[in-house]
Amino acid sequence: MKSSNLGYPRIGEQREWKKALESFWAGELAENDLVKQMEQIRNRHLQKQQEKEIDLIPVNDFTFYDHMLDMAVMFGLVPKRYDYDGGPVSLATYFAMARGNESAVAGEMTKWFTTNYHYIVPEFGDRQPAVTENKPLLAYLAAKETLGLQGKPVIVGPYTFVKLSKGYAPDDFHKTIEQIVPLYKQVLQELELHGVEWVQIDEPAFVMETTDQDLQVIARVYQELSQALPHLKLMLQTYFEAVDWYQELVALPVQGIGLDFVQGVEKNLSNLKKHGFPKDKVLAAGIVDGRNIWRSSLEEKWQLVTSITESVSQDRLWLQPSSSLLHVPVTVERETDLVEEVKKTLAFADEKLGEVQLLVQGFRFGKYIISKQIAENEAALTQLQSSPARNRSEVKQALAELDKTTATRNVPFHERKGIQQEAWKLPLLPTTTIGSFPQTTEVRKARQQFKKGDWSPEQYESFIQEQIKEWIDIQEDIGLDVLVHGEFERTDMVEFFGEKLGGFLFTKNGWVQSYGSRCVKPPVIYGDVEFLAPMTVKESVYAKSLTEKPVKGMLTGPATILNWSFVRDDISRKEVCEQIALALRKEVEELEAAGIHMIQVDEPALREGLPLKPEDRKSYIDWAVSAFRIATSSVQPTTQIHTHMCYCEFHDFIDVISDLDADVISIETSRSHGELVSVFETCTYDKGIGLGVYDIHSPRVPAVGEMENMVTQALDVLPASQFWINPDCGLKTRGSRETILSLKNMVEATRAVRDRL
Ligand code: GLN
Ligand code: ZN
Repeated sequence: MKSSNLGYPRIGEQREWKKALESFWAGELAENDLVKQMEQIRNRHLQKQQEKEIDLIPVNDFTFYDHMLDMAVMFGLVPKRYDYDGGPVSLATYFAMARGNESAVAGEMTKWFTTNYHYIVPEFGDRQPAVTENKPLLAYLAAKETLGLQGKPVIVGPYTFVKLSKGYAPDDFHKTIEQIVPLYKQVLQELELHGVEWVQIDEPAFVMETTDQDLQVIARVYQELSQALPHLKLMLQTYFEAVDWYQELVALPVQGIGLDFVQGVEKNLSNLKKHGFPKDKVLAAGIVDGRNIWRSSLEEKWQLVTSITESVSQDRLWLQPSSSLLHVPVTVERETDLVEEVKKTLAFADEKLGEVQLLVQGFRFGKYIISKQIAENEAALTQLQSSPARNRSEVKQALAELDKTTATRNVPFHERKGIQQEAWKLPLLPTTTIGSFPQTTEVRKARQQFKKGDWSPEQYESFIQEQIKEWIDIQEDIGLDVLVHGEFERTDMVEFFGEKLGGFLFTKNGWVQSYGSRCVKPPVIYGDVEFLAPMTVKESVYAKSLTEKPVKGMLTGPATILNWSFVRDDISRKEVCEQIALALRKEVEELEAAGIHMIQVDEPALREGLPLKPEDRKSYIDWAVSAFRIATSSVQPTTQIHTHMCYCEFHDFIDVISDLDADVISIETSRSHGELVSVFETCTYDKGIGLGVYDIHSPRVPAVGEMENMVTQALDVLPASQFWINPDCGLKTRGSRETILSLKNMVEATRAVRDRL
């Protein structure tokens, strides 16, 4: 039995990777110094894995930005808009593709499957692909030379690579794969020539829907590769779920198959039992969760591996994490401030590799040699399990009492609509914003001073009040109809609530890469989530005291809090989501009681939680929608619930959006106007809809005419009485000047349209 890894986090224990990149971009680090620092970081990561005695250590998982971008660059897929004429791609061009420059926009960025990692979408079409530089080979040779390591190069496989790329017609999908296969062949043949033993070919797209034709193409591609590579061993690696065509998969002409025994455990295990595993192949079994941060129960994993060994002999078995460790932080060791009880149950990348190694040792030499660790591990997990934080009786009771009525408003929308019109007397096409106003350096500095203790709570609070006051005045001045307090007290829309709810904890160094050098530090939901005290009432009430206009309260929804956190895995995600919903329900009730009768509950990440497998989606949607309704349905019919989502692909999602039963929904429409029009033409959506009339991702001030046009077009599809007018998301990343100018234009555009109605 061997131990293996699929990929190691790039960012470094103290985010040295991020720092190096950002100083280079800022012009503070020369290119050769960047390269040197990157090499050091990469070697350090490989050394750590060597020290842990991992048998198959991945190389080429490291990157200067993103591994999909690396693949695109390796194949010469540099779009024409960049300055490039063949040969190795310079670092300047590479970063231009990632981040844009003065003359060309960056490549599109999108989520890597269901993770929070974002890759740069490769673009076919502009140029004939050709190998520019064999990056996996360079990584292999470097590791061999400096560390004496026989690494396992990792590349994204042809099916997944093309599937996740753009620039070809859907009908040309298979043709595009076949076009790129010779390049794979070339890269792999060079690896073979240099004595590489195993290559890991990542094909996570195998777990998504595939057609019969896809399967034929896949079979042909791997046939072709295997014929061209008589000595190189291919580990065909899948993850994030089970592959639905197990028998075809294990029949492919490769030397190893990697399966996910965490997210796809039931299906993979039952396939293994039912169909067996080919005697001439290696099974790489992903048994330790590569996507979450909890220590695994070694006893349970022991049972799992034992069960796998009934179908695959130990000499043909590798144990490994279920996916690349890119999705978890580096090490728990630096978490010096955590309560011991919880700390002992956490495992980040380094600790996960430790678990893999322990299990392999146990199977090699006998369980008794790891029995002490198994016992310690069980004790730690049991202790957390029985801790008061995981056994809040009020939470358990409230959950048990949940029923349909908890999630239903007592007056249906078609009746509420008139009641609310009567109560609010808003003009046609009411104007508002999505919640946050510019988080200037001043605001961020104030927060830091408060966190460091240099500022007293009173000092900070009065600073926040000044900001609120300033922006209430600005909003009045601009002539907006519904005002917000501006969210100046919030760092981040999830962290802010996590810090105030029971059941959350925050790590010091639990960073994971989100895209490029951007890292996020997700909160950890380790206990029962409960409402402790009002979280947002003070600021909203203060804002309201300053104006005659309605002020919208502002909360983050249950699915978004869930999807942007690391979540305990001893109970279902559904249950955790319901706990969050019940806590938010109390906050909604507090706001209402304090006189805030318009409340927005943001769900920008609702869609992100959609499972990969179509058959699992309905159940997720059901409980995520129900959680939103639990949070928002106890209010009076006159109280208006708003929600906000920042994505444009809602053509297949409109029923879900409608089911939330929010009175008004604002969605990102500024960048996808045509789509909006076509969607609403074909459905019977009757609730309010906030038109995002300008893109907040750019400092550009949109002209009055532009927005006027957009509103006018929308009125062709739905009646004016349904629309609200707003920017397409929060304004926290914008400057004050451009924000004010843009909003003024927005109000003017709205008035112009109103005058014509
Ligand atoms: N209310 C939040 C804000 O304005 C919404 C942010 C989001 O949807 N991502 O910042
Ligand atoms: Zn948004």
